Amino acid sequence: MTKNYHTPTLIIGSGPAGYTASIYAARAMLQPILLQGLQPGGQLTITTDVENWPGDTMVLGPDLMVRMEDHARSTGVKIVQDSAVELQLDHRPFTALCDSGDTYTCDTLILATGAQAKWLGLSSEDYYKGFGVSACATCDGFFYREQDVVVVGGGNTAAEEALFLTNFANTVTLIHRRDELRAEKILQNRVFNHPKIEVLWNHVVTEIIGTDNPKSVDSVALKNTITGQAITHSCTGVFVAIGHTPASELVTGQLTLKEGGYIQTSPGTTQTSIPGVFAAGDLVDSVYRQAVTSAGLGCMAALDAEKFLAKS
Ligand code: FAD
Ligand code: NAP
Repeated sequence: MTKNYHTPTLIIGSGPAGYTASIYAARAMLQPILLQGLQPGGQLTITTDVENWPGDTMVLGPDLMVRMEDHARSTGVKIVQDSAVELQLDHRPFTALCDSGDTYTCDTLILATGAQAKWLGLSSEDYYKGFGVSACATCDGFFYREQDVVVVGGGNTAAEEALFLTNFANTVTLIHRRDELRAEKILQNRVFNHPKIEVLWNHVVTEIIGTDNPKSVDSVALKNTITGQAITHSCTGVFVAIGHTPASELVTGQLTLKEGGYIQTSPGTTQTSIPGVFAAGDLVDSVYRQAVTSAGLGCMAALDAEKFLAKS
């Protein structure tokens, strides 16, 4: 039998943003309920070493997220293994309909459903994820000291990832499917003028090639998009930087979104276009996309929700 629950603050998402929001909300006596979604713990559960979470020189991503969940539980957060499938935000209380059939109503809603990196869609890419294939140079660049790496993409992210990787790698080859980048001119100039970066125009990756034991990458197979010619390029790291998809489909048409589908929030706050609905983490952030920035935005969302409830 399906059930209906009410809470002053419902949080959707169990990444760093959601768990941090829930801890602050619980300590503000908002009796939060948190819906974990299909990926309890969020994106960090699919990585290994996290070396930039303050206070831990190195922590495994899944371990860090278990600790966050334990912390949230210890403050009294009600954590539910369920996914929101529909949101009704046109009147308060807001309503979330869940996959299980249960319904949650709430006076304030914190959205923390994150974003997912776009991938090329190759089975070899999937096979070597975490073993030579990454979508986050900030997270994994350090592991490629004095190695040869490639970055796939032609936008700001690809340009920034390529530049960042020059801090570690011997060579960085930027592979782009067209003959011009869509990255800002200033980034393009930095890329073109960097002695460690070479741009390979008009090429797409058709396969990622490596070994099974140990599981590691040694090259990529490429195809020229104009001539069709196939080549192989040696590298030990492949950074896919072809964009991110924020998980905003639940609120499309209800909340104001910005370019790329990220949720628009008022500057300096987590307030969305509907009063009482707040958004945090990678769902609002097209620029930084880090665990610590997501946690910070989660904290802000809970404080914003507390202030909103105090006024209403
Ligand atoms: P996410 O972690 O994306 O979590 C989103 C949550 O929302 C999930 O729990 C999901 O189940 C839930 N959800 C989605 N839809 C629904 C729904 N309909 N109903 C209920 N729940 C829903 N950052 C670093 O700072 N350091 C690193 O070393 C690092 N390494 C990374 C390695 C990899 C491979 C990846 C992919 C990312 C890495 N990042 C790293 C980035 C970091 O993981 C993200 O910035 C961070 O996880 C974003 O947190 P978030 O809470 O906004 O969202
Ligand atoms: P993006 O601007 O959408 O660029 C994605 C790039 O990947 C494009 O060059 C695209 O090629 C290429 N691409 C897409 N799918 C591909 C595929 N299947 N195979 C090969 N290449 C593929 O994404 P982004 O660079 O992540 O940026 C997203 C948003 O964040 C943008 O608005 C960007 O300005 C912003 N951002 C800003 C900053 C900053 O201000 N410093 C930093 C990072 C991101 P085509 O060009 O051919 O389409």
